[in-house]
Amino acid sequence: MRQSELFTKTKREAPKDEEAINARLLIKAGFIDKTMAGVYTFLPLGWRVFKKIENIIREEMEALGGQEILMPSLHPKTNWEQTGRWEAYDSLFKFTSFYSKIDYVLGPTHEEIVSPLLAKFVFSYKDLPKYVFQIQNKFRDEKRAKSGLLRGREFFMKDLYSFHRDENDLDKYYEKVGKSYEKIFKSVGLGKLTYLTFASGGTFSKYSHEFQTLTPAGEDIIYICDKCKIAINKEIIEEQNNCPQCGNKNLREEKAIEVGNIFKLKTKYSAPFNFKYKNEKGELNDVIMGCYGIGLNRLMGTVVEIYHDEKGIVWPEAVAPFKVHLLSVKCQVSGVRKFADKVYNSLQKNGVEVLYDDREDASAGEKFSDADLIGIPYRAVISEKTGNKLEIKKRSEKKVNLTGVKEFIKYIRTTNKLRYYE
Ligand code: ATP
Ligand code: MG
Repeated sequence: MRQSELFTKTKREAPKDEEAINARLLIKAGFIDKTMAGVYTFLPLGWRVFKKIENIIREEMEALGGQEILMPSLHPKTNWEQTGRWEAYDSLFKFTSFYSKIDYVLGPTHEEIVSPLLAKFVFSYKDLPKYVFQIQNKFRDEKRAKSGLLRGREFFMKDLYSFHRDENDLDKYYEKVGKSYEKIFKSVGLGKLTYLTFASGGTFSKYSHEFQTLTPAGEDIIYICDKCKIAINKEIIEEQNNCPQCGNKNLREEKAIEVGNIFKLKTKYSAPFNFKYKNEKGELNDVIMGCYGIGLNRLMGTVVEIYHDEKGIVWPEAVAPFKVHLLSVKCQVSGVRKFADKVYNSLQKNGVEVLYDDREDASAGEKFSDADLIGIPYRAVISEKTGNKLEIKKRSEKKVNLTGVKEFIKYIRTTNKLRYYE
């Protein structure tokens, strides 16, 4: 993509009404735009990052046997009354139709839709297990929405739901999903900082599990067991003062962001919808359920909280909007322009994702500082001084190298195959 054609521009200053680093950097660099508190538009650069994250998650969900669907955002009140959550869910956006006076909910999660949905198709033990997921926008009337992408009033979630004959089958699948989550967080560069965290399991299970990423930007407090490399959350520490796995009482307190969670729902949402199946003997049993969420906006915001420096964002390669930021410095000089155009074309022909700063009205200084702000992993500069070579610098490193075009393309193509970064 040519930067001269991009309809967005970087800003000189971070927005005054944002405190969170992720929002300040993402808005300043032109990845997102704030519509109102807790509600953002994804701009072209931001949407590319979002789709990278989405695809990493989708691939793992498909590997788990998940079948992708898309459920509506608009829900009938009746489904929410059936589970008791019309009253009990504290951040529900509710409204009434002007014409019919019927009440609706803007979906904050989809147990109330997915359980009656599967009940239309699952009748027998032969129909189980089943796994469905979606990547869809949720609405929550959050009291405070001051953390940029970390806590929105509208945000995207990947929600996977599993349906089983018995708890044993749920337990096995739950373990598998936990392993996939680890892979996902590793892929986006958060592997080392993300802890499996014991959380309250609600009425039906002793524990559920959160995936918490350590950062000072976190709203949650977790307690890490360095022996087991797991953590427990605040609710659990109030009940018991030790590691649920090894009993260690020496736990380290840290701030963290909950990037995902997994939960054994058992019959909590199948029972209210009378969702049962017939076993081998023809007896009716409740369907056993699990649910598994990851917040995509929150994950993207978390990556920025962790991967930035004083100049801007430093995207991990797997989620960067482009692989290469090609800068033509003094592009009015015709040799420079011609060569840069040629390099741009051959990068594209070779399948390298490239943002080409071909702007004629931007100074060298502006181009360099925009490149640092936007944070694409490889900067390739073409100037009067570089001859028929490229001056390559990694965003995360200081050193620069003069490299031939063919050699650079060959190298970049090998990095395309990289997947897990830690
Ligand atoms: P929190 O305790 O942070 O409010 P939650 O327990 O309400 O989270 P869930 O209902 O389990 O979260 O949602 C699943 C996932 O969706 C969370 O792990 C998180 O990644 C994401 N998420 C939840 N609320 C928000 C929000 N307001 N904005 C962005 N992402 C969110
Ligand atoms: Mg919440």
